[in-house]
Amino acid sequence: MDKFDVAVIGGGPAGSTAARYLALEGVNVLLVERDSGRIKPCGGGIPSSAFEEFGISDSAVIKKIDKLLLVSPSGRKNIMNLSGGMINIVSRRLFDEQLREMASQAGAELVKGEFRKIRDTGKDYVIGIRQKNGTSLEVRADYVIGCDGVHSMVRQAMGLSPVNYVYTYSEIIRDASADACEFWFSESHAERSYSWVFPGGEGCLVGTGLRSRSKARESFDEFLKRRGLKSNGAGRGYMIPEWKDGDLVKGRVLFAGDAAAHVMPLSYEGIYYSMKSAHLASTAIIEGNILLYIKLWHKRFKSRFRFMKRLESHFMQNNRTMEKMVSILANPAIQKAFLKLWLKKDSDKNALLSYIRFFGKYLN
Ligand SMILES: Cc1cc2nc3c(=O)[nH]c(=O)nc-3n(C[C@H](O)[C@H](O)[C@H](O)COP(=O)(O)OP(=O)(O)OC[C@H]3O[C@@H](n4cnc5c(N)ncnc54)[C@H](O)[C@@H]3O)c2cc1C
Repeated sequence: MDKFDVAVIGGGPAGSTAARYLALEGVNVLLVERDSGRIKPCGGGIPSSAFEEFGISDSAVIKKIDKLLLVSPSGRKNIMNLSGGMINIVSRRLFDEQLREMASQAGAELVKGEFRKIRDTGKDYVIGIRQKNGTSLEVRADYVIGCDGVHSMVRQAMGLSPVNYVYTYSEIIRDASADACEFWFSESHAERSYSWVFPGGEGCLVGTGLRSRSKARESFDEFLKRRGLKSNGAGRGYMIPEWKDGDLVKGRVLFAGDAAAHVMPLSYEGIYYSMKSAHLASTAIIEGNILLYIKLWHKRFKSRFRFMKRLESHFMQNNRTMEKMVSILANPAIQKAFLKLWLKKDSDKNALLSYIRFFGKYLN
Protein backbone atom coordinates (compact mmCIF):
# COMPACT_ATOMS: atom_id res chain seq x y z
CA MET A 1 0.00 0.00 0.00
CA ASP A 2 1.43 3.42 -0.99
CA LYS A 3 2.20 5.77 1.85
CA PHE A 4 1.99 9.58 1.69
CA ASP A 5 2.76 12.31 4.18
CA VAL A 6 -0.53 14.02 3.27
CA ALA A 7 -3.63 13.00 1.30
CA VAL A 8 -5.68 15.95 0.05
CA ILE A 9 -9.26 15.02 -0.85
CA GLY A 10 -10.87 17.21 -3.54
CA GLY A 11 -9.08 18.99 -6.37
CA GLY A 12 -11.01 22.28 -6.43
CA PRO A 13 -9.32 25.61 -5.59
CA ALA A 14 -8.75 24.58 -1.95
CA GLY A 15 -7.36 21.09 -2.57
CA SER A 16 -5.07 22.00 -5.46
CA THR A 17 -3.68 24.97 -3.52
CA ALA A 18 -2.96 22.84 -0.43
CA ALA A 19 -1.33 20.12 -2.56
CA ARG A 20 0.80 22.67 -4.41
CA TYR A 21 2.14 24.42 -1.29
CA LEU A 22 2.88 21.09 0.40
CA ALA A 23 4.64 19.66 -2.66
CA LEU A 24 6.71 22.83 -3.06
CA GLU A 25 8.08 22.18 0.44
CA GLY A 26 9.05 18.62 -0.50
CA VAL A 27 6.08 16.99 1.26
CA ASN A 28 4.98 13.69 -0.32
CA VAL A 29 1.36 14.54 -1.20
CA LEU A 30 -1.53 12.79 -2.92
CA LEU A 31 -4.38 14.82 -4.46
CA VAL A 32 -7.62 12.90 -4.99
CA GLU A 33 -10.24 14.35 -7.39
CA ARG A 34 -13.31 12.42 -8.45
CA ASP A 35 -14.35 14.48 -11.47
CA SER A 36 -11.61 16.44 -13.20
CA GLY A 37 -13.96 17.58 -16.01
CA ARG A 38 -16.38 19.11 -13.53
CA ILE A 39 -17.63 22.65 -14.04
CA LYS A 40 -18.57 24.01 -10.65
CA PRO A 41 -21.69 26.22 -10.77
CA CYS A 42 -19.98 29.49 -9.83
CA GLY A 43 -19.78 33.15 -10.89
CA GLY A 44 -16.00 32.74 -11.06
CA GLY A 45 -15.38 36.27 -9.71
CA ILE A 46 -11.97 36.53 -8.00
CA PRO A 47 -10.15 39.74 -6.95
CA SER A 48 -7.07 40.25 -9.12
CA SER A 49 -4.92 40.52 -5.96
CA ALA A 50 -5.50 36.79 -5.36
CA PHE A 51 -3.68 35.97 -8.60
CA GLU A 52 -0.64 37.88 -7.37
CA GLU A 53 -0.82 36.44 -3.87
CA PHE A 54 -1.01 32.83 -5.07
CA GLY A 55 1.26 33.26 -8.12
CA ILE A 56 -1.45 32.25 -10.62
CA SER A 57 -1.31 33.42 -14.25
CA ASP A 58 -4.35 34.94 -16.00
CA SER A 59 -4.72 32.00 -18.41
CA ALA A 60 -8.19 31.00 -17.10
CA VAL A 61 -9.47 34.60 -16.92
CA ILE A 62 -12.23 35.28 -19.43
CA LYS A 63 -13.14 38.84 -18.38
CA LYS A 64 -11.70 41.61 -16.24
CA ILE A 65 -14.29 43.80 -14.57
CA ASP A 66 -13.65 47.24 -13.15
CA LYS A 67 -17.04 48.12 -11.70
CA LEU A 68 -19.87 46.83 -9.57
CA LEU A 69 -23.53 47.68 -9.85
CA LEU A 70 -25.76 47.45 -6.79
CA VAL A 71 -29.53 47.70 -7.29
CA SER A 72 -31.82 48.21 -4.29
CA PRO A 73 -35.34 46.75 -3.92
CA SER A 74 -36.87 50.06 -5.11
CA GLY A 75 -34.53 50.19 -8.14
CA ARG A 76 -31.97 52.69 -6.82
CA LYS A 77 -28.69 52.04 -8.65
CA ASN A 78 -25.20 52.43 -7.22
CA ILE A 79 -22.20 52.11 -9.47
CA MET A 80 -18.89 51.43 -7.73
CA ASN A 81 -15.80 51.96 -9.82
CA LEU A 82 -13.08 49.65 -8.61
CA SER A 83 -9.72 51.12 -7.82
CA GLY A 84 -6.63 49.27 -6.69
CA GLY A 85 -7.70 46.04 -8.38
CA MET A 86 -10.18 44.33 -10.66
CA ILE A 87 -12.52 41.40 -10.46
CA ASN A 88 -11.19 38.65 -12.71
CA ILE A 89 -13.90 36.34 -13.98
CA VAL A 90 -12.54 32.85 -14.58
CA SER A 91 -13.84 29.82 -16.40
CA ARG A 92 -14.09 27.39 -13.49
CA ARG A 93 -13.26 24.46 -15.77
CA LEU A 94 -10.01 26.12 -16.88
CA PHE A 95 -9.17 27.60 -13.48
CA ASP A 96 -9.61 24.32 -11.57
CA GLU A 97 -7.57 22.50 -14.24
CA GLN A 98 -4.85 25.15 -14.05
CA LEU A 99 -4.56 24.82 -10.25
CA ARG A 100 -4.41 21.00 -10.43
CA GLU A 101 -1.72 21.27 -13.09
CA MET A 102 0.28 23.65 -10.86
CA ALA A 103 0.00 21.13 -7.99
CA SER A 104 1.16 18.33 -10.25
CA GLN A 105 4.10 20.36 -11.55
CA ALA A 106 5.11 21.11 -7.98
CA GLY A 107 5.31 17.34 -7.39
CA ALA A 108 1.90 16.29 -6.04
CA GLU A 109 0.62 12.92 -7.23
CA LEU A 110 -2.89 13.11 -8.72
CA VAL A 111 -5.42 10.28 -8.53
CA LYS A 112 -8.74 10.34 -10.36
CA GLY A 113 -11.13 8.78 -7.94
CA GLU A 114 -13.66 9.28 -5.20
CA PHE A 115 -12.83 9.29 -1.52
CA ARG A 116 -14.98 6.62 0.15
CA LYS A 117 -13.70 5.94 3.65
CA ILE A 118 -11.06 6.61 6.24
CA ARG A 119 -9.69 4.49 9.09
CA ASP A 120 -7.47 5.75 11.87
CA THR A 121 -4.82 3.14 12.69
CA GLY A 122 -3.48 5.30 15.54
CA LYS A 123 -0.24 5.84 13.61
CA ASP A 124 -1.68 7.03 10.30
CA TYR A 125 -4.87 6.90 8.23
CA VAL A 126 -5.91 4.29 5.68
CA ILE A 127 -7.98 5.93 2.96
CA GLY A 128 -10.30 4.06 0.63
CA ILE A 129 -10.69 5.48 -2.88
CA ARG A 130 -12.94 4.30 -5.71
CA GLN A 131 -10.87 5.02 -8.83
CA LYS A 132 -12.37 6.39 -12.03
CA ASN A 133 -11.70 3.03 -13.75
CA GLY A 134 -13.87 1.28 -11.15
CA THR A 135 -11.12 -0.32 -9.09
CA SER A 136 -10.59 0.27 -5.39
CA LEU A 137 -7.41 1.76 -4.02
CA GLU A 138 -6.15 2.06 -0.45
CA VAL A 139 -3.39 4.44 0.57
CA ARG A 140 -1.87 5.44 3.89
CA ALA A 141 -1.29 9.04 4.94
CA ASP A 142 -0.07 10.72 8.13
CA TYR A 143 -2.36 13.71 7.59
CA VAL A 144 -5.49 14.33 5.53
CA ILE A 145 -6.91 17.64 4.30
CA GLY A 146 -10.63 17.49 3.45
CA CYS A 147 -11.21 19.93 0.56
CA ASP A 148 -14.16 18.08 -0.93
CA GLY A 149 -16.64 20.91 -0.98
CA VAL A 150 -19.99 21.71 0.57
CA HIS A 151 -21.15 18.06 0.78
CA SER A 152 -17.81 16.87 2.22
CA MET A 153 -17.70 13.09 2.58
CA VAL A 154 -14.53 13.48 4.65
CA ARG A 155 -16.46 15.50 7.25
CA GLN A 156 -19.14 12.86 7.30
CA ALA A 157 -16.61 10.00 7.58
CA MET A 158 -14.94 11.83 10.48
CA GLY A 159 -18.29 12.08 12.29
CA LEU A 160 -18.68 15.85 11.89
CA SER A 161 -22.00 17.47 11.09
CA PRO A 162 -22.40 18.81 7.53
CA VAL A 163 -21.84 22.51 6.93
CA ASN A 164 -24.93 24.73 6.78
CA TYR A 165 -25.67 26.19 3.40
CA VAL A 166 -27.67 28.65 1.34
CA TYR A 167 -29.30 27.43 -1.83
CA THR A 168 -28.59 29.03 -5.23
CA TYR A 169 -30.17 28.69 -8.64
CA SER A 170 -28.15 29.88 -11.63
CA GLU A 171 -27.82 29.65 -15.36
CA ILE A 172 -25.47 30.82 -18.11
CA ILE A 173 -27.61 33.10 -20.25
CA ARG A 174 -25.93 33.44 -23.61
CA ASP A 175 -27.71 36.51 -24.94
CA ALA A 176 -27.28 38.50 -21.70
CA SER A 177 -24.67 41.21 -21.51
CA ALA A 178 -23.27 43.32 -18.67
CA ASP A 179 -20.16 45.39 -18.14
CA ALA A 180 -20.24 45.28 -14.34
CA CYS A 181 -20.68 42.56 -11.72
CA GLU A 182 -24.29 43.23 -10.77
CA PHE A 183 -25.88 42.59 -7.36
CA TRP A 184 -29.67 42.95 -7.19
CA PHE A 185 -31.53 43.04 -3.89
CA SER A 186 -35.20 42.33 -3.20
CA GLU A 187 -37.21 39.87 -1.12
CA SER A 188 -39.26 39.13 -4.23
CA HIS A 189 -36.39 37.20 -5.90
CA ALA A 190 -33.68 36.76 -3.27
CA GLU A 191 -35.00 36.32 0.23
CA ARG A 192 -32.27 37.41 2.73
CA SER A 193 -29.70 37.17 -0.08
CA TYR A 194 -29.13 38.70 -3.50
CA SER A 195 -29.39 37.91 -7.21
CA TRP A 196 -26.46 38.50 -9.52
CA VAL A 197 -25.38 38.95 -13.14
CA PHE A 198 -21.68 38.25 -13.72
CA PRO A 199 -20.29 38.87 -17.21
CA GLY A 200 -18.64 35.78 -18.67
CA GLY A 201 -17.04 34.61 -21.90
CA GLU A 202 -20.26 33.91 -23.75
CA GLY A 203 -23.13 35.70 -22.09
CA CYS A 204 -23.46 36.06 -18.33
CA LEU A 205 -23.83 33.83 -15.30
CA VAL A 206 -27.12 34.85 -13.76
CA GLY A 207 -28.34 33.52 -10.44
CA THR A 208 -30.16 34.03 -7.22
CA GLY A 209 -29.45 33.13 -3.59
CA LEU A 210 -32.21 31.54 -1.53
CA ARG A 211 -33.05 30.32 1.93
CA SER A 212 -35.46 27.64 0.70
CA ARG A 213 -35.02 25.19 -2.15
CA SER A 214 -38.75 24.99 -2.88
CA LYS A 215 -38.87 28.60 -4.15
CA ALA A 216 -35.73 28.30 -6.32
CA ARG A 217 -37.17 28.29 -9.83
CA GLU A 218 -39.94 30.75 -9.01
CA SER A 219 -37.50 33.26 -7.46
CA PHE A 220 -35.04 32.88 -10.33
CA ASP A 221 -37.83 33.54 -12.88
CA GLU A 222 -38.91 36.56 -10.87
CA PHE A 223 -35.37 37.94 -11.07
CA LEU A 224 -35.10 37.27 -14.81
CA LYS A 225 -38.33 39.21 -15.27
CA ARG A 226 -36.95 42.13 -13.24
CA ARG A 227 -33.66 42.15 -15.17
CA GLY A 228 -35.39 41.62 -18.56
CA LEU A 229 -33.74 38.27 -19.34
CA LYS A 230 -34.98 34.93 -20.68
CA SER A 231 -33.99 31.50 -19.41
CA ASN A 232 -32.54 28.90 -21.79
CA GLY A 233 -33.97 26.25 -19.48
CA ALA A 234 -30.52 25.05 -18.41
CA GLY A 235 -30.51 26.37 -14.84
CA ARG A 236 -28.93 24.45 -11.94
CA GLY A 237 -29.37 24.47 -8.22
CA TYR A 238 -26.33 24.30 -5.95
CA MET A 239 -25.34 25.13 -2.40
CA ILE A 240 -23.00 27.74 -0.95
CA PRO A 241 -21.83 27.11 2.62
CA GLU A 242 -23.02 29.45 5.30
CA TRP A 243 -20.07 30.36 7.50
CA LYS A 244 -20.11 29.38 11.16
CA ASP A 245 -17.09 29.28 13.43
CA GLY A 246 -16.86 25.49 13.30
CA ASP A 247 -14.47 22.54 13.26
CA LEU A 248 -11.30 23.00 11.23
CA VAL A 249 -9.40 20.01 12.62
CA LYS A 250 -10.32 16.56 13.93
CA GLY A 251 -7.50 14.21 14.86
CA ARG A 252 -4.91 14.70 12.10
CA VAL A 253 -7.58 15.65 9.55
CA LEU A 254 -7.86 19.33 8.57
CA PHE A 255 -10.71 20.94 6.63
CA ALA A 256 -10.42 23.84 4.18
CA GLY A 257 -12.56 25.74 1.67
CA ASP A 258 -16.25 24.91 1.34
CA ALA A 259 -15.69 21.76 3.44
CA ALA A 260 -14.93 24.14 6.32
CA ALA A 261 -17.62 26.68 5.27
CA HIS A 262 -14.97 29.30 4.49
CA VAL A 263 -17.30 31.54 2.54
CA MET A 264 -17.57 35.22 3.45
CA PRO A 265 -21.02 36.08 4.85
CA LEU A 266 -23.01 38.69 2.91
CA SER A 267 -20.82 38.66 -0.23
CA TYR A 268 -20.70 34.83 -0.48
CA GLU A 269 -17.20 35.00 -1.88
CA GLY A 270 -15.56 31.59 -1.48
CA ILE A 271 -12.73 31.06 -3.98
CA TYR A 272 -10.17 33.34 -2.35
CA TYR A 273 -10.96 32.03 1.15
CA SER A 274 -10.83 28.40 0.01
CA MET A 275 -7.31 28.94 -1.38
CA LYS A 276 -6.22 30.95 1.63
CA SER A 277 -7.52 28.42 4.16
CA ALA A 278 -5.80 25.62 2.20
CA HIS A 279 -2.58 27.62 2.27
CA LEU A 280 -2.84 28.08 6.05
CA ALA A 281 -3.66 24.38 6.58
CA SER A 282 -0.62 23.35 4.56
CA THR A 283 1.56 25.85 6.47
CA ALA A 284 0.49 24.25 9.76
CA ILE A 285 1.39 20.76 8.47
CA ILE A 286 4.75 21.97 7.16
CA GLU A 287 5.44 23.55 10.58
CA GLY A 288 4.53 20.24 12.27
CA ASN A 289 1.79 21.87 14.38
CA ILE A 290 -1.68 21.33 12.95
CA LEU A 291 -3.36 23.45 15.63
CA LEU A 292 -1.43 26.37 14.18
CA TYR A 293 -3.99 26.24 11.35
CA ILE A 294 -6.83 27.23 13.71
CA LYS A 295 -4.68 29.95 15.24
CA LEU A 296 -3.67 31.42 11.87
CA TRP A 297 -7.19 31.31 10.49
CA HIS A 298 -8.69 32.96 13.57
CA LYS A 299 -6.02 35.64 13.68
CA ARG A 300 -6.42 36.55 10.05
CA PHE A 301 -10.14 36.19 9.40
CA LYS A 302 -12.36 35.48 12.39
CA SER A 303 -13.18 39.07 13.27
CA ARG A 304 -13.98 40.05 9.69
CA PHE A 305 -16.15 36.95 9.10
CA ARG A 306 -17.97 37.65 12.36
CA PHE A 307 -18.53 41.28 11.48
CA MET A 308 -19.77 40.43 7.97
CA LYS A 309 -22.13 37.88 9.54
CA ARG A 310 -23.55 40.60 11.75
CA LEU A 311 -23.97 42.91 8.75
CA GLU A 312 -25.68 40.13 6.83
CA SER A 313 -28.10 39.36 9.69
CA HIS A 314 -28.95 43.03 9.98
CA PHE A 315 -29.15 44.21 6.37
CA MET A 316 -30.57 41.12 4.68
CA GLN A 317 -33.71 41.07 6.87
CA ASN A 318 -36.17 42.67 4.46
CA ASN A 319 -36.58 45.20 1.64
CA ARG A 320 -36.31 48.15 4.00
CA THR A 321 -32.94 47.09 5.43
CA MET A 322 -31.60 46.12 1.97
CA GLU A 323 -32.64 49.54 0.68
CA LYS A 324 -30.73 51.13 3.55
CA MET A 325 -27.60 49.09 2.84
CA VAL A 326 -27.52 50.12 -0.82
CA SER A 327 -27.98 53.76 0.15
CA ILE A 328 -25.15 53.57 2.74
CA LEU A 329 -22.88 52.04 0.12
CA ALA A 330 -23.35 55.12 -2.07
CA ASN A 331 -21.08 57.02 0.37
CA PRO A 332 -17.61 57.28 -1.29
CA ALA A 333 -15.73 56.85 2.02
CA ILE A 334 -17.63 53.63 2.78
CA GLN A 335 -17.06 52.40 -0.78
CA LYS A 336 -13.34 52.98 -0.33
CA ALA A 337 -13.23 50.91 2.88
CA PHE A 338 -15.39 48.20 1.31
CA LEU A 339 -13.17 47.96 -1.79
CA LYS A 340 -10.00 47.79 0.28
CA LEU A 341 -11.43 44.90 2.26
CA TRP A 342 -12.76 43.07 -0.77
CA LEU A 343 -10.06 43.70 -3.34
CA LYS A 344 -6.98 43.94 -1.16
CA LYS A 345 -7.85 41.27 1.42
CA ASP A 346 -5.31 41.38 4.23
CA SER A 347 -3.03 44.06 2.88
CA ASP A 348 -4.74 46.82 4.84
CA LYS A 349 -6.02 45.78 8.26
CA ASN A 350 -7.26 49.32 8.96
CA ALA A 351 -9.93 48.76 6.29
CA LEU A 352 -11.82 46.48 8.66
CA LEU A 353 -11.66 49.09 11.40
CA SER A 354 -12.97 51.85 9.16
CA TYR A 355 -15.69 49.50 7.93
CA ILE A 356 -16.66 48.73 11.54
CA ARG A 357 -16.70 52.46 12.28
CA PHE A 358 -19.04 53.18 9.36
CA PHE A 359 -21.40 50.25 9.79
CA GLY A 360 -21.13 49.52 13.53
CA LYS A 361 -23.70 52.18 14.43
CA TYR A 362 -26.42 50.39 12.44
CA LEU A 363 -25.97 47.14 14.37
CA ASN A 364 -27.54 46.29 17.72
C1 LIG B 1 -23.78 29.59 -7.89
C2 LIG B 1 -22.49 29.92 -7.18
C3 LIG B 1 -21.78 31.06 -7.52
C4 LIG B 1 -20.58 31.35 -6.87
N1 LIG B 1 -19.88 32.43 -7.28
C5 LIG B 1 -18.70 32.73 -6.69
C6 LIG B 1 -17.91 33.82 -7.15
O1 LIG B 1 -18.24 34.49 -8.13
N2 LIG B 1 -16.76 34.10 -6.49
C7 LIG B 1 -16.33 33.36 -5.43
O2 LIG B 1 -15.28 33.67 -4.84
N3 LIG B 1 -17.06 32.30 -4.98
C8 LIG B 1 -18.21 31.95 -5.59
N4 LIG B 1 -18.90 30.85 -5.19
C9 LIG B 1 -18.34 30.00 -4.11
C10 LIG B 1 -17.19 29.12 -4.69
O3 LIG B 1 -17.66 28.44 -5.83
C11 LIG B 1 -16.70 28.09 -3.65
O4 LIG B 1 -16.56 28.72 -2.39
C12 LIG B 1 -15.36 27.46 -4.06
O5 LIG B 1 -15.51 26.71 -5.24
C13 LIG B 1 -14.85 26.54 -2.95
O6 LIG B 1 -13.71 25.82 -3.40
P1 LIG B 1 -13.40 24.38 -2.76
O7 LIG B 1 -12.15 23.89 -3.41
O8 LIG B 1 -13.45 24.45 -1.30
O9 LIG B 1 -14.65 23.47 -3.18
P2 LIG B 1 -15.13 23.04 -4.64
O10 LIG B 1 -14.84 24.07 -5.63
O11 LIG B 1 -16.55 22.59 -4.47
O12 LIG B 1 -14.21 21.79 -4.98
C14 LIG B 1 -14.38 20.54 -4.31
C15 LIG B 1 -13.73 19.48 -5.18
O13 LIG B 1 -13.81 18.23 -4.50
C16 LIG B 1 -14.20 17.21 -5.40
N5 LIG B 1 -14.83 16.17 -4.59
C17 LIG B 1 -16.02 16.24 -3.94
N6 LIG B 1 -16.24 15.08 -3.26
C18 LIG B 1 -15.18 14.28 -3.52
C19 LIG B 1 -14.83 12.95 -3.11
N7 LIG B 1 -15.63 12.23 -2.29
N8 LIG B 1 -13.67 12.41 -3.57
C20 LIG B 1 -12.83 13.13 -4.39
N9 LIG B 1 -13.13 14.38 -4.82
C21 LIG B 1 -14.28 14.95 -4.36
C22 LIG B 1 -15.15 17.90 -6.38
O14 LIG B 1 -15.27 17.22 -7.60
C23 LIG B 1 -14.48 19.28 -6.52
O15 LIG B 1 -13.57 19.33 -7.57
C24 LIG B 1 -20.09 30.51 -5.83
C25 LIG B 1 -20.80 29.36 -5.47
C26 LIG B 1 -21.99 29.06 -6.15
C27 LIG B 1 -22.73 27.79 -5.78
